[in-house]
Amino acid sequence: VRGVSGRVAGVGRSATVSLFDLVGELRAAGRSVVDVSGGQPDFATGEHVVTAAVAALHEGFTHYTASRGLPELRELVSAKLLADNGIEVAPTDVVITPSAKHGLYAALLTLLDPGDEVVVPTPSWVSYQAMARLVGGVPVEAELSGANGFRLTREVLEGAVSGRTKAVLVNTPNNPTGRALDAEEARVLAEFAVAHDLYVVADEIYEAVLFDGRRHLSVAALPGCAERTLTVNGFSKSHAMTGWRLGWVAGPGAVMAELVKVQEHTVSCAGSFVQRGGIAALSGPEEYVAGMVESYDRRRRVVVDGLNALPGVSCALPEGTFYAFADISGAGKGGSVGFAEWALRDAGVAVTPGVAFGAGGEGYVRLSFAAPVDVVHEALARLARALG
Ligand code: PLP
Repeated sequence: VRGVSGRVAGVGRSATVSLFDLVGELRAAGRSVVDVSGGQPDFATGEHVVTAAVAALHEGFTHYTASRGLPELRELVSAKLLADNGIEVAPTDVVITPSAKHGLYAALLTLLDPGDEVVVPTPSWVSYQAMARLVGGVPVEAELSGANGFRLTREVLEGAVSGRTKAVLVNTPNNPTGRALDAEEARVLAEFAVAHDLYVVADEIYEAVLFDGRRHLSVAALPGCAERTLTVNGFSKSHAMTGWRLGWVAGPGAVMAELVKVQEHTVSCAGSFVQRGGIAALSGPEEYVAGMVESYDRRRRVVVDGLNALPGVSCALPEGTFYAFADISGAGKGGSVGFAEWALRDAGVAVTPGVAFGAGGEGYVRLSFAAPVDVVHEALARLARALG
């Protein structure tokens, strides 16, 4: 039998998913492993959301919907984008996708021809570069510097651009660094995109998880960006709905009319009763989301204080998301992969090596505080003991 396509064979497995599997194997073999590598909120999905989906199931609302998604959900997304984000997108230019992840994939497939380059500031989420390759594109890292607090600068963006660059893919607040774009970085990004006539794919899935009273800055609301930005978001992080697989893409009508074709020919639509859950989530109580964020905020301080107390480790306070990105280069355990392997083997703690998020993540590891607080405490205690 002949081999599979080079496009797929050339893409590595997701480092975070592989780690998830390895933790499972170690546990099955009787090892005690504290896992702070995942990105799953430990909260239950809201009762109002569950009730709405269950009611839909009992009602027999179990068939295909329009590819773009339920009109009521698209209207809620459009209203949310206007109210919270200052983005004007008609409900017809919102496509409800089975996860933000699929939305990102559809966005890249829609924008990139084979060989087209997409600038990806790193460290950034593990799947961006793989997705770009899967659609035949070429991801080009704009490596942000940890010494500079992973700030987005014009210089580093310009260093990654070429005649083939079609788009730039940004994530704010950022997984794994915990940084959220500030006004200056947002201005730099907007000017860069306009100057090179690039599309922007803006992954804003952690929008709700911001601390210290920060306000989220949406790329599509920046000068010159509405006509070139696809905003991707979803329910996984904001509403603790990772298993529901529900998200959306919103952007300029001409692009969305193309993107919906990807949806039509691949997945048809997001789950019908799942979308009913999404309607309940977006029209439900805001305290539900705020309560989770308060809890993340408390854990954030525990994690960062604990990390900074470890010899040779330092960590800045995340501005958003539920990840701490710690500089472990002084811990004497090698690079990020060396440290992660040591942590798993000698301390029984699963962390994610920073290099999984791009070359800019070398020297760092990511700890998630979406895990319950006692798990977070135990992870820190084990690391402290093992580092002696
Ligand atoms: N974007 C980022 C930056 C993420 O960290 C994740 C999940 O870890 C996603 C997108 C995926 O979201 P969804 O569960 O909606 O596919």
